[in-house]
Amino acid sequence: MSIRVTELTKYFGTQKAVDGISFEAKPGRILGFLGPNGAGKSTTMRMLTGYLEPSSGTASLCGFDTQLQNLEIKRLMGYLPENTPLYTDMYVQEFLLFVGHTYGLKDVKSRVVETIAAVGLETEQHKKIGMLSKGYKQRVGLAQAIIHNPEVLILDEPTSGLDPNQLAEIRDLIKSLGKDKTVILSTHIMQEVEALCDDVIIINKGAVVANHPIAELKHLHGNASLEEIFKKLTA
Ligand code: ADP
Repeated sequence: MSIRVTELTKYFGTQKAVDGISFEAKPGRILGFLGPNGAGKSTTMRMLTGYLEPSSGTASLCGFDTQLQNLEIKRLMGYLPENTPLYTDMYVQEFLLFVGHTYGLKDVKSRVVETIAAVGLETEQHKKIGMLSKGYKQRVGLAQAIIHNPEVLILDEPTSGLDPNQLAEIRDLIKSLGKDKTVILSTHIMQEVEALCDDVIIINKGAVVANHPIAELKHLHGNASLEEIFKKLTA
């Protein structure tokens, strides 16, 4: 298993944002992490990346504990946070060179060229990040997440705010990345899950209410649509 989460819990003050979540994810599959706003998706993902300390429970990536083995974790995972914070004053190429250097990549220049091609940023590579459209900014976010060729990708609402064309392109890209990596992505768009994911976890009020391959989840609910199942489980 490349992601293993056991009884993960997070309190903010007295509020239990994540309530004893356990799940696993493996390579070559895309896991959709679904839940209504405020369900605890981002909080869980931030604990998975080691950026947020759990109140209790553990998370590991490829056998490394996200709290105890932070350096290894940073090397083997790529993270696209919600709302993609980027250095808007930097040029695309300059930013990716900077990120590549922070990972200590050997052939950083050629890796930047490869990554720009992988995410389809060739036409924009000489522009300032702040000048790019939302869709291209999202590609820069994905580029910084994959530049070091991580085994695990953690993507928090990777397609939020994109227009239909951008959406299709970013989904294709994620799909191709998911062929050999372990991908977990959060969303509240059901079509996204249908289009991209092999497995789905639904959380509600911080707790897991479903965890199945998509076909199995539908079968369990009398072949209802994902939308109906989601509504029923998060009502
Ligand atoms: P989701 O990503 O599913 O929309 P979040 O993980 O962002 O949900 O939030 C889960 C709950 O935790 C929400 O009620 C949110 O207000 C709360 N929360 C998230 N981050 C913080 C924080 N840093 N401090 C206090 N409360 C937080």
